[in-house]
Amino acid sequence: MKRLVVLGGKESGTGAALLGKKQGYDVFLSDMGRIEEKYKAILQKEKIVFEEGGHSVERILEADVVVKSPGIPDSAPLVVRLREKGVEVISEIEFAGRYTDSRMICITGSNGKTTTTLLIHHILTQAGVDAGLAGNVGKSLALQVAQDAHPVYVVELSSFQLDGMFRFKADVAVLTNITPDHLDRYDHKFENYVDSKFRILQNMDTSGLFIYGKDCDVVKERVEGMKLIPACAGFTYGTEVERNGAYMDGNHVVVQWENRRFSVDKADISIQGRHNVYNAMAAILACIRMGLTDEAIRLGLKSFPQVEHRLETVAVKGGITYINDSKATNVDSAWYALDSMTAPVVWIAGGTDKGNDYEVLLPLVKEKVKVLICMGVDNKKLINSFSPVCEVVDTHSLEETMIEARKRARQGDVVLLSPCCASFDLFKNYEQRGELFKKQVKAIPD
Ligand code: ADP
Repeated sequence: MKRLVVLGGKESGTGAALLGKKQGYDVFLSDMGRIEEKYKAILQKEKIVFEEGGHSVERILEADVVVKSPGIPDSAPLVVRLREKGVEVISEIEFAGRYTDSRMICITGSNGKTTTTLLIHHILTQAGVDAGLAGNVGKSLALQVAQDAHPVYVVELSSFQLDGMFRFKADVAVLTNITPDHLDRYDHKFENYVDSKFRILQNMDTSGLFIYGKDCDVVKERVEGMKLIPACAGFTYGTEVERNGAYMDGNHVVVQWENRRFSVDKADISIQGRHNVYNAMAAILACIRMGLTDEAIRLGLKSFPQVEHRLETVAVKGGITYINDSKATNVDSAWYALDSMTAPVVWIAGGTDKGNDYEVLLPLVKEKVKVLICMGVDNKKLINSFSPVCEVVDTHSLEETMIEARKRARQGDVVLLSPCCASFDLFKNYEQRGELFKKQVKAIPD
């Protein structure tokens, strides 16, 4: 019996363990930290042996194959030892891909993955396609392959998932954009991070379709310099017409695919802003590839619900619109948030700085932001960067931030939480930051 060891007992690890069991492996799951009760219950029910609070190294080194949680870096001593010993260390998506022939629509990029993944999944399911939602959003792919198989999967892939993928083949691959992020996991070399994202292309054959953001110089240059095996389609906010790809024609998003021309008014896409036009373009291309009609695609684009913490309109109170974009944890996403604002902005930003360079935001901030309320333990960098272009207020808690924001916002303004930074100085994670912000907004009297 082949031995499968799963490192990490959350969504993906538990899913991989279940699939391993179904495929006849002798499975052992090991987690350095505590395993949540709901996952423990699943493992116990399936009689899968597991440990928590540490790794039994000798036992793990006996594995034939190891599925590693994307949260564990390749540099972790145990992973290094496994690889030195020649044990295959792969990601859950790679493992799941070995036991299914379903069509895989895979989405990666620095920003826009979740939105694009959910949008494609929404359009497909609205049109009656039996599609599973997997990867960073939704249920574990391995779990679905084991227990709830679908003929199509829409899979969000982080670079960490991609790093553990070797034989997996995407049928449709979307690369939204690449901007510096997570460089601590890539030896602080941007090139390594770019390489990781491009792994989405590995194993794709001539039957595949690669969809990519052409306005992102990093992506565009790399694509132009390589020989691509699958068909490809770029998307741009510009007006250039190409045989295969997406572009703008006035207020219309146009997608050209061979002899087919699809067009939709920007206003008929439920999610707004230039970045969401990109996400919609990628989604339309993927759905055309999946054979959907124009009508079905239009319906899906229009009925797509807001995605929580991504430019999410929370409420209008006293004529002031409050927007929760807590997921904007880097400069690029905050840029798109500001770019999409059409009213004067009271901007809430700050948190754990990831080596941000705020220079690119200055023109937009100058044009749109009336006041920046800094919300963080240490706001020095923000204050220094933005004081020359707008009023800046220094606060150190959400409560203080909200008091200052409400003092300054006037009817017709927008209060935008788009922090540009990670949340860990004041919050557990970006979700908690967004939730607490929404709670405060909802408590404002009408
Ligand atoms: P990811 O899953 O890649 O983190 P999300 O869809 O969760 O992407 O969006 C993360 C943040 O980036 C949000 O603030 C969102 O408004 C913004 N965003 C969404 N799509 C894009 C895009 N295509 N380009 C830049 N920023 C984007």
